[in-house]
Formats: sequence, C-alpha cells, structure tokens
Amino acid sequence: MWQTILTTVFMYDYIIVGQGICGTFLSWNLVKEGKKVLVIDESQPFSSTKVASGVINPVTGRQVVTTWMADDLLPFVLKECHDIGSDIGVMVIFQKNIQSFPPSLQMRQMYDKKIDENNFIQPVPEVTLTKYQQYFNFMYGCIQIDPCYFIDLHTLLKGWRQQLKDKDALLEERFDSSKLTINASSVVYENHTAEKLIFCNGINAYSEPYWSRLPYVMNKGQALVVDIPDLPQDVIYKFGAMTFVPWYDNLWWVGSSYENDFENSLPSEGFRKNTETALKNVLKLPFTICDHIAGIRPATVERRPFVGLHPQKPSIGIFDGMGTKGCSLAPYFAHQLTQHLLHGTPINAEGDVSRFAKVLAR
Ligand SMILES: Cc1cc2nc3c(=O)[nH]c(=O)nc-3n(C[C@H](O)[C@H](O)[C@H](O)COP(=O)(O)OP(=O)(O)OC[C@H]3O[C@@H](n4cnc5c(N)ncnc54)[C@H](O)[C@@H]3O)c2cc1C
Repeated sequence: MWQTILTTVFMYDYIIVGQGICGTFLSWNLVKEGKKVLVIDESQPFSSTKVASGVINPVTGRQVVTTWMADDLLPFVLKECHDIGSDIGVMVIFQKNIQSFPPSLQMRQMYDKKIDENNFIQPVPEVTLTKYQQYFNFMYGCIQIDPCYFIDLHTLLKGWRQQLKDKDALLEERFDSSKLTINASSVVYENHTAEKLIFCNGINAYSEPYWSRLPYVMNKGQALVVDIPDLPQDVIYKFGAMTFVPWYDNLWWVGSSYENDFENSLPSEGFRKNTETALKNVLKLPFTICDHIAGIRPATVERRPFVGLHPQKPSIGIFDGMGTKGCSLAPYFAHQLTQHLLHGTPINAEGDVSRFAKVLAR
C-alpha cells in the first residue's frame, strides 16, 4: 500500500536571515507594507548590534567633518525610531549630545576652526566646564556635538523579536545555505518558500557563497561596561577614541577599539588593561568594571553599505556592510530597500550592491 507523507509548505513574501539592526528595520518595513515575512535568526549573544553602543554622531575624524548624508539621515532615523518604538510600545531613541574633550591642542584648534562652519559643533559654557572638572581630568576644554542620539538597541531588538514571535514570523535557528534552493522567481528553504530571501546576517554574509566576493573589511570592536555611580547620564562624554555612553541599568559603555588585524572575536586582555589605565587617568570618580564585550563590525572597503538584489540571482538580496554606522544607515536603507522591492524605486547608487555586478558575476 502506498503511503503519502504530506509536508506542510509555508509560503512567505520574504525570508530575512538575521535580526540585528538591519534585519529588524527591514522586516518591520515589510510587515508595515502588509508583506508576509519570515525572519531566521539564531540570536548570537555578541552580534555587532548587541555589542554596539548605539550612538549616532554626525561629526567624525581629526578634520571634524560631517558624516556621510548626516543632514538627511538624522531626521529620518529619528522618525523611524519613534515609529518602530510606538509599534513595540517603548521609546528606543533618545537625544544625548556628545561632550567632546579634545585630546590635544591641535584637535582643540581644529574644533575652534570648525565651530563657525559646522552647525553640529557648539562651544560649552564656562559653568558647564566647571561642573565637568568635578568628574574628569582634561586640558583643552570641551565642545558639544548637537544633536546626537542614542538608540537603545537591546530594547529595540527584544521588542521587535517579541512582535515577530507573536506573528509566528520567527525561526530561532541557524540558517544553513546548503538547504537553500534559488529559483528564477522564488526561493525554497526546507519547507519554507518565498518570493525573495534577503541576507541581513552581518559578518556571516561574507561566508555565503553568493556574497563572498564583496569587498568586506571586518573590524573588531571592544568595550568595557562600567559602573560610575556619580556620573550624570544625561549626555555622552568623548575623550578621543574613548567614549562614555550611558547604557543599560545605569551602567556606562566605554569603548571602543577599531581593529582590522585580529585573531579572534573575543575580548582581549590588552584592551582591558589599556582602557582601565585610560579610565584611571581621565576619571576623578570611583568606578567598577562590570563586563568586557567584543564584536565584529561588518565594514566595507569603501565605507558604503551593500544594499539590493543579486545582479545574477534576483531572488536573493543583501542588506549589510553598515560598518561603524549601523544606527544611522540601517533605518534609512531599510526603507529604500523596501521601496525598491515593492515598487522598483532606485537605491542610493553609493549603497546599491549592483555597483559590484561584475565582481558578483564571476
Ligand atoms: C564595539 C562596537 C561598537 C559599535 N558602536 C556603534 C555605534 O555606536 N553606532 C553605530 O551606528 N554603530 C555601531 N557599531 C556598528 C554596528 O553595530 C553595526 O553597523 C550594525 O550593528 C550591524 O548590524 P547588522 O544587522 O548588519 O549585523 P548584526 O548585528 O551582526 O546582526 C546579524 C544577525 O544575524 C544573525 N545571524 C548571523 N548568521 C546567522 C545564521 N547563519 N543563521 C541565523 N542567524 C544568523 C545574528 O545572530 C545576528 O542577530 C558598533 C559595533 C561594534 C562592534
């Protein structure tokens, strides 16, 4: 007698691999547009988004320049974060301006030169400087970067993950590309089928056969989680590469390193020692180191993201390569990618992965 084994096939519009900041904003945008989405995420504890401080700083570098597209990105990200926050029922973005203490006279002079031409830079009043002298050792004054924002990434990821679970739209397991079949106008992953699958799996996308030719530069970052009970948490403090970000449970995230050459993704003793010494030099207040975390940023050679469909296999796409700027770039490009998928509107040419069509065709 013939026995028929019936397997249920689940149908989706989109499968998204990864629920870091990229997968979160992309799946949220698609769900908002009425699309049926499945997110596959194995929840790695030290993914880039989970280790990140969550700061949006529109000013960068020794030349004190405005970051790429900051004037467009800031208002857009603020709105998107308010909207996703309302959907998950919690605030996820807060204005926290940066108080930047120049580490050298040259840096101070550069800030002074830029104060008139850069709208994001302002002097700090004398009375505030006097207050900061109770907390810190510093020699070259302080300037304010305004506005800057802090995204509460842990609350954002947790809140949206719960919504995905409630919608039965989350598969908590490791995605294995050997189980993926790519057809001309659909993909099949085990018993899940969808029109398209988008890789939002951060540094792991580089290991996927379809994307390994993209010019990634993995960049390791480390931070200490520090208890500084007497330091007010209304602003972010910056001393050169060392930034103090008011984090969870009244603790401070203090980091970070930017390492292109590293053996593994684990916290290193060298970083801990150096940062502890720097903390002792800068802080006048008592502190306790509570944790030491490390992760790898999915950065790219050109410092521009990879967004869009595979030029040869348009049933799969990528949303990755946010580097040091996931908090400002991911919400913006998630919206662009969604509009591209739904209506064919163009993706900003500097971020569109089709700029690597030749490389991906090999
Ligand atoms: C120390 C540090 C500090 C940072 N600070 C900031 C900051 O202040 N501001 C800022 O804008 N950016 C910051 N960044 C950069 C920022 O974290 C990244 O740009 C951004 O988080 C990348 O997000 P993502 O979603 O692409 O990747 P990820 O956050 O890595 O997310 C990928 C997701 O995919 C899942 N995944 C991976 N492989 C698989 C698989 N095979 N199967 C299933 N699931 C899988 C992982 O579990 C994870 O959830 C920082 C990064 C570091 C390391």
